[in-house]
Amino acid sequence: MRRFFASILLVVFGALGAVLWVQWDRRPLVDSPAVPDVIGTATPLRVTVRSPGPGLASVHLVARREDRSWTLFQQSFMRTNWRGSGAEEFVIELTPDWSALAIPDGELNLELWVATYGWHLRGHDRVPLWEHRVSLDTTPPFLELTTTQHNVRLGGVELAIWRTSADTVRTGVEVGGYYFPGVRGYFADPQLVFGLFAIPQDLDPLVQPRLVAVDAAGNRKEQNVPVRIRPRRFAERVLTIDDDFLARKVPEIEASNQLPPQGSLLERYLRINRDLRYENEAALREVTRESDPKPLWLTPFHRQSNSAPLSSFADRRTYVYRGQEVDRQVHLGFDLASIAASPVEAAQAGRVVFAGELGIYGNTVILDHGAGLFTLYGHLRSIDVAVGQRVERKEKLGYTGETGLAAGDHLHFSVMLHGVHVDPVEWWDGAWIRQHLLAKLESFPRTSAATNNDQ
Ligand SMILES: [Zn+2]
Repeated sequence: MRRFFASILLVVFGALGAVLWVQWDRRPLVDSPAVPDVIGTATPLRVTVRSPGPGLASVHLVARREDRSWTLFQQSFMRTNWRGSGAEEFVIELTPDWSALAIPDGELNLELWVATYGWHLRGHDRVPLWEHRVSLDTTPPFLELTTTQHNVRLGGVELAIWRTSADTVRTGVEVGGYYFPGVRGYFADPQLVFGLFAIPQDLDPLVQPRLVAVDAAGNRKEQNVPVRIRPRRFAERVLTIDDDFLARKVPEIEASNQLPPQGSLLERYLRINRDLRYENEAALREVTRESDPKPLWLTPFHRQSNSAPLSSFADRRTYVYRGQEVDRQVHLGFDLASIAASPVEAAQAGRVVFAGELGIYGNTVILDHGAGLFTLYGHLRSIDVAVGQRVERKEKLGYTGETGLAAGDHLHFSVMLHGVHVDPVEWWDGAWIRQHLLAKLESFPRTSAATNNDQ
C-alpha cells in the first residue's frame, strides 16, 4: 500500500515538475546591437526579443523622460495552445516619427517591457527588460554656402567655401554619384569649411552639385551649389594593336599581376585592358581615400621638363586589332614623352602614398598634395622614393620607362581628386589657380596654426 502511494506521489510530483519545467518563465533575451546613443530623424531602431518556452504575451517599446512617456511600439500575442503563444522570437524594427510624437530634443530613456505566457516567479515583468539611454537630436546641422562663383569645365575642378555647425560629422559636395569631402580647420572661423569638387568627365554637364552636411544623429541638410559647367568634347583616338605588341606586353603584365594566361592572346589582352583597368581604378580610390588636410596646391604645378604631350585628358580610345574594333576605354591622364629614361619630377610638394607595381600603370608613384588632391606617375622604369616620404616640387621620383600597358617610353601623368581623374591642364596654370582657388581662400582669415606653417 505504502509503495502504491509512493508511486502515485512520484507520478504527481513528476507531472507537476514536468509542467513547471515547460511553463517556467525563462528570462527573455534582448539583442539590440544597432541602437546608437544619438538618435536623429532617420535613425532606425532594431531590437530582437527571444523568449524560449511558452512564448511572448506582449512587447512594448517606450520612450521616457522624467514623468512623461511615449509609446513607440506595442504588440500583443494571442494564446495559440495550452502553453502560450509559441512566439519565441520577435523583431521590433521601426524609425519613429519623432515630430508626430512631438517629443522635444534631449535625453530619453528607451525601455522595452516584455510579458510572456510563462509562470512569473521572479517578478521580472515589473521592470523593463531592456533600457537604453539615448540623446534625441532632430535638428539638422546649419549649412550656408559663402562662395558664389563656381565655373567649371567638364572634367575640371572648382572650390567652394561654406559654413556648417560644430556637430556636423560629414560635409562635402556631392556631384552625381561622386562625393568630395570638405576640409575643416583651415580658417580662423571654426565653422568655415573649404572643399575642392570635380565635375567628373563621365557626367552630364547638366549635373547639379549638392552641398551636404550630416550630424552625428544622421540629420541631413543640403543645398544646391550654383555652378556654370562648360561642356566639352573629348578627343576621339584610334589605337591599333598588333601581334608584336601583344606578344611583348601581355605575358609581362600577366606575370607582374599574377594573372593566369587563359585564352587567346587577344582575350588575355582584353582582360588586362578591361578587368585589370577597373581593378586598378578601385585600388586608386582606396589609396586616395585619406588626404592631408593642408593644401599644398596653391602654386602652379610643374610639368615634366622637356616633355611633349602624346595625348590629352580623357581621350576616348577605340582599340583596333586586325582591322576590327575590339574595345573602347577612356584614357584618364596625360601622356608626356621625352627622351627615354628621363628623370620623373614631382609636379608639386607632397607625400608619397604609393610606390610600386599598379597593373596597367606599371611601376607607379602616387603623391598626396593635401585636401584630396593627388598626382600619379605611371610606366616608370625605376622608383627612387618610398611610401611616407615627403618630396619637394620637382624632386626626382624615379625614371621614365614603359612598364605596364605602355607601347613606348613615356610618363603617364594623372591628377586625381579623391581618386577621380581630373584635367591636369588647370593645375599647370598659375592664373587658374589664383582665380579659382587662391582668391577664394584668401577672402577669409586663416587660423594662426595654418599661417605659421607657411613657408
Ligand atoms: Zn597614359
